[in-house]
Amino acid sequence: MQPENKDRTEIPDRCPHCHQKLSSWQQVLLGVDRAIICKNCRKRITLDIPLEDDGDNKKKENKN
Ligand SMILES: [Zn+2]
Repeated sequence: MQPENKDRTEIPDRCPHCHQKLSSWQQVLLGVDRAIICKNCRKRITLDIPLEDDGDNKKKENKN
């Protein structure tokens, strides 16, 4: 049994690379951008979100 948590993404509270704790502002940015650069180790922190690829909504380009 899992609670319905579809809107909520789990934001890590620390850098997965150097384990530096992220500020709440960095966590907000991470939630919005889904990626930030760690200030401490300069590595990229990305959210582990499966992209919703349902097709029809995402057709930006039409090949003629
Ligand atoms: Zn780091």
